[in-house]
Amino acid sequence: MLKEVFEQAAAAINGAKSVVLTIHVQPDGDALGSLLAMYHFLRKSGKTTCATWGEPIKIPDQYKWLPEVANITNFESCIDADLLIALDCANEHRLGLMEQKLSSFKSIINIDHHVDNSSFGTINILDFSASATCEIVYELLKFMKADIDSDIASLLYTGIVTDTGRFQYQNTTAKTLRVAADLVDLGAVPNDIFKNIYENISFASLKLLAKVLGRAEYVKESGLVYSYILNEDLSKAGVSVADTENFIDYLRTAREASVAAIFKEMADGKLRVSLRSKGLVDVGAIAREQDGGGHRNAAGATLDMTIDEAAKWLSDRIKALHF
Ligand code: 5GP
Ligand code: MN
Repeated sequence: MLKEVFEQAAAAINGAKSVVLTIHVQPDGDALGSLLAMYHFLRKSGKTTCATWGEPIKIPDQYKWLPEVANITNFESCIDADLLIALDCANEHRLGLMEQKLSSFKSIINIDHHVDNSSFGTINILDFSASATCEIVYELLKFMKADIDSDIASLLYTGIVTDTGRFQYQNTTAKTLRVAADLVDLGAVPNDIFKNIYENISFASLKLLAKVLGRAEYVKESGLVYSYILNEDLSKAGVSVADTENFIDYLRTAREASVAAIFKEMADGKLRVSLRSKGLVDVGAIAREQDGGGHRNAAGATLDMTIDEAAKWLSDRIKALHF
């Protein structure tokens, strides 16, 4: 049970002098919120702590305000410690370049809420009913009797509000809302966090969103609504891929959509696909067919296909599995 594993994790943390914290590549609000909340807590506890992730560090604009975000460092300078804590990572590959460093850590705590987590830690704190990794981190910090100040509360609230689609997705439970309420009591300010995250895209990103929505396609047989973002779109608009994280949420608002997808061209010519389902279709299962993964209603994968091939593959898989 979680209590036992919390005890093991608390003992490992208390016994470590130095800790490296890492998250999945192309981090979202839950990854960054849980990373910085743990960083803040460990530093206050007197540990030598390094916060990083396994690719060149670029903070998405909507998360640049997060407390302590400037202290995130490149992973090369961040690999020597008694303990590694991985947050919001379903498996080793999601660690990016940190994956190669795993064997240099004797102790690894893996804290996550993805149903397909591969239990790659020496201690695995997995709760698939948690809306966000930040919800688990909140429980762990309470268990450890940590002083949760307003910075930590804001960071944890950020992870929960983003991973639940502002408390609207199916992963939102009564417990999620109770944890969020606790965090507000502890100093998180919902309206400030909302403005920082959701009313903080550049005008250039807004125009790019209009372009991406303008070329969206609807495949009636499968209920797939999709669009795409090319490298050229980003360079012309002067927008980074991280600033397009929320575009998919607009595609899923179509009544006709059972699945929304955005294909993003990568530097090597492959495609990253982000998938969102409204509940009928298990997009996590479809993503896993291509070595990707995620949750039933939010998943992603890397595809070696053209956009047309990818749209056809996806539509066919939705039809085969669900219609
Ligand atoms: P996003 O579309 O926001 O990048 O990802 C949606 C969800 O799927 C997130 O929970 C993310 O962690 C997960 N996910 C995205 N891409 C991958 C992938 O390549 N492998 C795995 N295991 N999970 C992924
Ligand atoms: Mn998450």
